[in-house]
Amino acid sequence: MHDLDELRRHLATPLGANHDPDQPPIAGHLLWDTLITAGHTPAVHDHSAGRAITLDLPDGTSIWISEQADITHPPAEHEGWCALHFNDPTDPLGDYVMVYMGDGLTHADDTAACVEAITAWIAAHQAVGAIARQAAYVALPKTIPRETLRMTWVIAYSHPGFNGIRPPTPSTQHAATLIHRSWEKPDPTNPDADPTDLWIYLRRGACTGCPWEGPNRRDHNQAIEDALDHTHPTWRQHPALPTGASGKRAAQLAAHRSAIHPARWFDSGGPLKVTTTIRRDRHEPGRAPGGGYLVKVHQPPKLKPGTAQLSLLDQSSDPEDEDY
Ligand SMILES: [Zn+2]
Repeated sequence: MHDLDELRRHLATPLGANHDPDQPPIAGHLLWDTLITAGHTPAVHDHSAGRAITLDLPDGTSIWISEQADITHPPAEHEGWCALHFNDPTDPLGDYVMVYMGDGLTHADDTAACVEAITAWIAAHQAVGAIARQAAYVALPKTIPRETLRMTWVIAYSHPGFNGIRPPTPSTQHAATLIHRSWEKPDPTNPDADPTDLWIYLRRGACTGCPWEGPNRRDHNQAIEDALDHTHPTWRQHPALPTGASGKRAAQLAAHRSAIHPARWFDSGGPLKVTTTIRRDRHEPGRAPGGGYLVKVHQPPKLKPGTAQLSLLDQSSDPEDEDY
């Protein structure tokens, strides 16, 4: 129906009083105008052969919007926009997530809902830091597909800053937390990774007091330890204390605990390191005396002679390659 230059000109012509009667109205026109009103810069590209309106994001990714690879159908015949966010816009068969799939709305309502979803999605995609990411996540409209929501970085349930469906709570000092997203692909940090060994989640240490984020990790505890290196850099030097004491022994341990940590260590959200006989025991948020992390340091049980089989059991239960 259009060559690309004609299509671009047509889309960029305002609707309304000066509408050219020789140019039949097309569904893409309202989408184009609504995107511009929402602050976006739409484009029509050669690599999509004009079959989609495209938003190119600064990180090189791209959102394509069309209805079954067409933007030129009459508004009255419009059924629903589909918006896909491609990692590599030159590879239409490559990695993408669905941002919006219209269904059963009028052309005007569908276009408004599509642009709302795209605008909120771009804000979440571009947010950096635990608080900004979580705030953008809870602001996403319900039209974002559930599978797509899982691809968004969020503060992990019950970790600092997490506030359910409400916006997150920032802290006035640096405070460790954990963010994660669904991944289900091989190790993104190693191009030679075993392609069959899929990481279920990507995790990062993060901070509720600033936008800092740690590197991609598979392991829950390792990500939290990255965050503690950011918030409490000397934490690795502190000894791990035993737990489970009672009575006089518990009082002695509490005194020892105060003596070996700097003043205000726990008030500032510092972690408490404790020993555990459980391999890969998870660090727990909020369990240190000031609300910081309880950090679990594995210490195999001391064996009496004749109980060596316990040690074998302990090793055989080590799920080295599981996402934990
Ligand atoms: Zn920080």
